[in-house]
Amino acid sequence: MPRPKKKEEAEVEVVETPDQAAGKGDLDVEELEGIGKVTGQKLKERGYYTVRDLAFASAKEIADIIGSEERAEQIIEAARSMLGLSNFITALEVYKKRVNIKRISTGVRSLDELLNGGVETGAVTEVAGEFGAGKTQFCHQLAVMVQLPEDKGGLSAKAIYIDTENTFRPERITQMARARGLDPDQALKNIYYARAYSSDHQMILAEQARQIIKQDNIKLLVVDSIVAHFRAEFPGRENLAERQQKLNKHIADLLKIADAYDVAVVVTNQVMAQPDVFFGNPLKPAGGNVLAHGATYRIWLRKSKENIRIAKIFDSPYHPEREATFKITEEGLTD
Ligand code: ADP
Ligand code: MG
Repeated sequence: MPRPKKKEEAEVEVVETPDQAAGKGDLDVEELEGIGKVTGQKLKERGYYTVRDLAFASAKEIADIIGSEERAEQIIEAARSMLGLSNFITALEVYKKRVNIKRISTGVRSLDELLNGGVETGAVTEVAGEFGAGKTQFCHQLAVMVQLPEDKGGLSAKAIYIDTENTFRPERITQMARARGLDPDQALKNIYYARAYSSDHQMILAEQARQIIKQDNIKLLVVDSIVAHFRAEFPGRENLAERQQKLNKHIADLLKIADAYDVAVVVTNQVMAQPDVFFGNPLKPAGGNVLAHGATYRIWLRKSKENIRIAKIFDSPYHPEREATFKITEEGLTD
């Protein structure tokens, strides 16, 4: 017996696919209903150029610019709705979106396996570890790997490197590039570099990074290290609240960049001793809960003998807590 046709099957509604909707992200803010020339100008002066910028803004930021919280909420809602971001979607659509997530290979088989293929775009990955654990080497390697074509694990794209500790070494990039068959000079040209001199400067650079990402083919943003300036400038318990508030804003900015522009954001973090822990691991990543909640994926690196290092994923929403071993050599990170 033929199955009776259900009503929903008969009436096919024409809806935009998420991709079609997302394509509108680059439209000028003035294309949004309710935004005229004057408001548009004010928004652009403060760095909000496109519908996408507004969709990922907070009501408070926009209210500061246009003077009305209510109107700010309406504008943001309109932008989100234009991009198809404001409605519920099915878990199947979430799954399809995740299948399309692009990854940057680390260049190390064991690490890629640990990360289900590499470092994800659209997410913030935190790399924590003690001094010398290989965090900076990991960042250098990714800045090279992202440039490779997709069949070699990259995304044929460029990187931005924000360096807070003055440990970026172009020589290291050329070594790693050569080992991967890239032209060393070209590899250096494909990395935008800035040294951050303070936590405020670091936050300004994140905003400038956003502007570059809009204009160029950037798929990796590195902040090495995310917490060093914050810890140095706000020492002690008495400054903790202010420090965490600022760090929170910085991480929120980075998450928005990852999400809005489908960029892999990789930040490094120091680990510190917890004097009050007697059982288990006495070390823990700095940055407290702000980083714990802000980073989507967290990798812990630790030293083993000689040039061997061990990586472990912790706090991941879906990776099991596994470990991987790799080496740091002249060529970079290897199996
Ligand atoms: P972290 O950022 O976690 O403090 P790094 O990423 O700077 O640590 O890692 C430092 C390690 O990388 C050192 O053990 C050093 O021997 C190794 N390393 C750096 N450059 C090279 C190289 N050219 N060849 C081999 N090992 C290197
Ligand atoms: Mg380092």
